[in-house]
Amino acid sequence: MLNIVIFGAPGSGKGTQSERIVAKYGINHISTGDVLRAQIKAGTELGKTAKGYIDQGQLLPDELIIDILASTLDSFEDSKGVIFDGFPRTIAQAEALKKMLAERGQEVSIMLDLDVPEDELMTRLIKRGQESGRADDNEETIKKRLVVYHSQTSPLIDWYKNDGKYQHINGLGTMEGIFAEIAEAIDKI
Ligand code: AMP
Repeated sequence: MLNIVIFGAPGSGKGTQSERIVAKYGINHISTGDVLRAQIKAGTELGKTAKGYIDQGQLLPDELIIDILASTLDSFEDSKGVIFDGFPRTIAQAEALKKMLAERGQEVSIMLDLDVPEDELMTRLIKRGQESGRADDNEETIKKRLVVYHSQTSPLIDWYKNDGKYQHINGLGTMEGIFAEIAEAIDKI
């Protein structure tokens, strides 16, 4: 079982690199952001709740997102492993993931930290907003998301270092170059 946490600030390339990991290693992909955007599009109650948080650049409550993750995990059959993209984002979520996997006789294999300088993150996200129309990719909301990343999410770097799963990845460069570094780290597990 290959259970990968792909980690990094908004705009660090988690989604793009996840697609490549899925293609090479044949594992399932959970992007909590994609799940929430699909719920918003479908107009569900969860989508309505999620929209309020997403538009403000804030995180959804841990219990809610942990429930979503557990049910998505249970929907996979004959899985070779999972790439967790955009989850965990808080220490409580990381602890819940550890417990959830342990209950299934599994663990996180590696946490890949895509490290990208702040000015580059801003440039990428503004560009993505213009190209995709994603509502939270505007300058004001991006700034809030980066504050949330630094206060609530970046403590996970030390958490995963203590857990012995941390792997730094240089998130600047070509998509191919970054993926080569990722694949090298995964192949060493
Ligand atoms: P993303 O597509 O991963 O950048 O997520 C977009 C937004 O969805 C975030 O800014 C949060 O509002 C919400 N979200 C996604 N994943 C999580 C999570 N693990 N915990 C809380 N909120 C989340």
